[in-house]
Amino acid sequence: MSFSHLGLSEKVLAAVAATGYKTPTPIQDQAIPHVLARRDVLGIAQTGTGKTAAFVLPMLTMLETGRARARMPRTLILEPTRELAAQVEESFIKYGANHNKLNVALIIGGVSFDDQDAKLMRGVDVLIATPGRLLDHNERGRLLLSGVELLVIDEADRMLDMGFIPDIERICKLVPFTRQTLFFTATMPPEIRRITEQFLSNPVRVEVSKPATTVATTAQFLARSGRDGFEKRDTLRRLIRSAEGMKNAIVFCNRKRDVATLHRSLLRHGFSVQALHGDMDQSARTAALEQFRKNEVTLLIASDVAARGLDIPDVSHIYNFDVPIHPDDYVHRIGRTGRAGRSGTAITIVAGSNDAKAVAAIEKLIGQTIPFMDKIPGTPAEPQHEPQHEPRHQQRHEPRQTARPPQRGRHEHQRRAQQPERRPQQPPSAPVARIEDARSRRVPQPVRQPMDDGDVSHLPAFLLRPVTVKA
Ligand code: AMP
Repeated sequence: MSFSHLGLSEKVLAAVAATGYKTPTPIQDQAIPHVLARRDVLGIAQTGTGKTAAFVLPMLTMLETGRARARMPRTLILEPTRELAAQVEESFIKYGANHNKLNVALIIGGVSFDDQDAKLMRGVDVLIATPGRLLDHNERGRLLLSGVELLVIDEADRMLDMGFIPDIERICKLVPFTRQTLFFTATMPPEIRRITEQFLSNPVRVEVSKPATTVATTAQFLARSGRDGFEKRDTLRRLIRSAEGMKNAIVFCNRKRDVATLHRSLLRHGFSVQALHGDMDQSARTAALEQFRKNEVTLLIASDVAARGLDIPDVSHIYNFDVPIHPDDYVHRIGRTGRAGRSGTAITIVAGSNDAKAVAAIEKLIGQTIPFMDKIPGTPAEPQHEPQHEPRHQQRHEPRQTARPPQRGRHEHQRRAQQPERRPQQPPSAPVARIEDARSRRVPQPVRQPMDDGDVSHLPAFLLRPVTVKA
């Protein structure tokens, strides 16, 4: 089936053809005709299903008639993060290549109010916004939502996670009652169901199968580590250094604070690395992402919120520095690799019994067990090996200067590294069924000779490339 039967305009069809897409995805196939028929749509779909085009393409078709008035946008798209908002804007640029007169404005936090204000003044056909900044403009009297004909609420369950639901409710009350609403969410927790019942009018429900199945082209492994931060960072470094076919990697942490700590640590260890988390200002986030996209840095350390839905093609490796708390996030994270039939590797560091429980939930969701790596090459570090405050002149050469630990000590480290719980002052934790189970389902891995930090001959040059980091 082609795009031509969906009712899209000639201009839109020409732009789609120019992108090379031949067949609509299931969400596009099912949602577009209803959107064009002005029905409310409840789309249950995740990022990666083509849902952005499912609303962008019919919106472009519908906006070919009519004109925008100053300060009164005709359509409004709400996104949970600035990056997602920017990506939707890119979709309008891509699919709206033949729509010369279309005005698209991005209203997101972290950038100047005045530029945004000037755009609003000119009249906007499509306003793409994060909720907080949108309400700020509205409260300043710079933006009237009474002309909105169509409202898109995207990634609603992520909005819930981020505490945006009260803002969404306020915005829904500011737009006309008669508007058309397109609502997208990956899951339907009770709070989201309540919102859909309150703000959608007789919606068509369109559900596409969740990509809870991880891509077959991605090899998935678990790597055992001690629980302390320095132990996990050491494990990660050894995993990166021993990675085969490494082109670039995203390392996910659960907390922004840990993104920053890990970023600093990897820089100190001479890796080519950037960070992406919600506390960075917009220009720093955009710059980090651009550097990573252009392969100017090899590693991107990211939090889930910052990385949600980012379209970064061709990532060779994913590392979960922390096991994600929500199993769905695992699927999202590792969905960044193994795209378009390319092979990818996703490795999750498992440190302690809570991690093992979280892994069990992930395995249940994806319907498969993830094998433990037999052995991670390299020698586990002692606490003092983390170069926390070494003088600046040592930073570039750090891997060369680490002394090879004595043989006896190294075996001791290896033995201890096999044990998930290492802190003697803590009571022994209860046996963890999943970890024990997992021992018997290890897959054979190519066994390498242990290497120590002093030997950098195995490090690809790009990992040692110095990078300049903005404060
Ligand atoms: P989304 O779920 O909107 O984030 O889209 C995920 C990816 O699928 C993006 O890189 C889109 O450019 C791509 N995409 C969207 N529609 C199609 C299609 N019909 N055929 C192939 N790829 C598509």
